[in-house]
Amino acid sequence: MGCVTGRRRTAHLALPLALALTLGGCGTVVDWPARVPEATVPPEAVGSAPQVPAAVDEGLRTDGPAPTTEGSTGKEPTEEPVVSKVSGLVPLGREDLADLAAELDRALTSGDEEEWIAFFDGDEDLLEQQRRWFRGVQAVPMDVREILPETVVSSDTPEGTVVQLVLAHQISGADPVPAVETYRVTVQRPPGGEPRITRMAGQDRQDGHPQLWDLQALAVTVTDDLVVLAPQGRESDVAAVLPGLESATANVFLDFDEGPRDRLVVQLADADDLRAITDDQELAVDPAGVAMTSAGLAERPERGEVGVTYSRDEHVDRIVLDLDLLPGDLTFGTPPGGFGLMRHEGVHAVVDGAPGVRPPVWVWEGLAQWYGFRRDYVLDDAYRAVVTGSSGQPLELPDSFDDYYYDSPEAGDLAYASSAMVFTFLEQRFGFETARDAGVGLTQVDGWVDTSDADALLGRLTGMTLEGLEQEWAAWALASYG
Ligand SMILES: [Zn+2]
Repeated sequence: MGCVTGRRRTAHLALPLALALTLGGCGTVVDWPARVPEATVPPEAVGSAPQVPAAVDEGLRTDGPAPTTEGSTGKEPTEEPVVSKVSGLVPLGREDLADLAAELDRALTSGDEEEWIAFFDGDEDLLEQQRRWFRGVQAVPMDVREILPETVVSSDTPEGTVVQLVLAHQISGADPVPAVETYRVTVQRPPGGEPRITRMAGQDRQDGHPQLWDLQALAVTVTDDLVVLAPQGRESDVAAVLPGLESATANVFLDFDEGPRDRLVVQLADADDLRAITDDQELAVDPAGVAMTSAGLAERPERGEVGVTYSRDEHVDRIVLDLDLLPGDLTFGTPPGGFGLMRHEGVHAVVDGAPGVRPPVWVWEGLAQWYGFRRDYVLDDAYRAVVTGSSGQPLELPDSFDDYYYDSPEAGDLAYASSAMVFTFLEQRFGFETARDAGVGLTQVDGWVDTSDADALLGRLTGMTLEGLEQEWAAWALASYG
């Protein structure tokens, strides 16, 4: 029975801060490591502080005023616009940015593509990219779709004024709060003219950029449980994999509390776009999938002001899967219970942990990996590799993100497998519900530094402490797979 072999797959990870990765389904080679789900990395309490870049990138800034978090030219507009000696342009201040954002927001809300495009001045690539973006963002069902002014990064560079704008967006039925995607934008205002945008890009790894609408012309599919974003032209592939995504999601919702959402947002991308969205250059392996979070919008600026505050505790979840890999799992029809990859990422998306709590990474990845692939015999091979690879040394659970995502594909395989094994052990000894409840419970207590809460939780469910669980698991693993 069959697993598709010969295709090397990666798993999905969690990116520190926001992503989690997963591994691919059935296959003799399972490379699961790859990304850190945001959920994997316990949401750090970023609190409500706006994240402001410390410096301007790419040498945009020369001798202009230093960027500040609030952004300011240091001079309020007077009667006569001051023309910059650096650029020959009129730099924008905070009020100008607030005005520009309000106009862009009106254009976005109007749905009139030409009105939006009129704010841009650049080559065909820029205009084409903006048309794609505008159509994509309009095509996704959203309760909130809004442009907000965040900050003036550098008012006076040779290319113009560099600012940050936020796309606040709440996808209908999926997002409990509006999410924030931040854009670093270059604006040029000639003397006597209107400001025009000449560049629009991401800012850093935590900005929620890029999303698939930044990269491709979108086709959007909405079902009871899913909002699926995919590139135009891939409709037949999307139709082929949709049942496996829906069935996986329905199972995740049934077995875990789906929380404040009715749907999961899934972006289907090719390997390049998946890598771009994951936005982590350090990954040791290309991911097959990833679960990420985007910060939620905490506060909007007052009218006429700039400044956006974020919340990491109130966030939204995004799943991204490799659309070129999934059809390979359909050789024998849609996998029972849906795609393992989607089950894995789905667990990351719905199991959010608790604000400020730091469980060990093996809890996040083990729970997701076990649930994703627990019906798949390929886990036995992966489990055997953990035991035989230990060369007689005592088995230990991996305790670093490097083991999963950054060291090597081989280390990642072993890390995912040994983590998942803990939950297989719990399931075999205590049943599915106890294994699941232990996993979910462990994501909500601090087991990394102080294990007393974890010990109490496990004691209630299994009679073991965390250390006892690790010892029992190791003994069971040797007896079962040695
Ligand atoms: Zn994962």
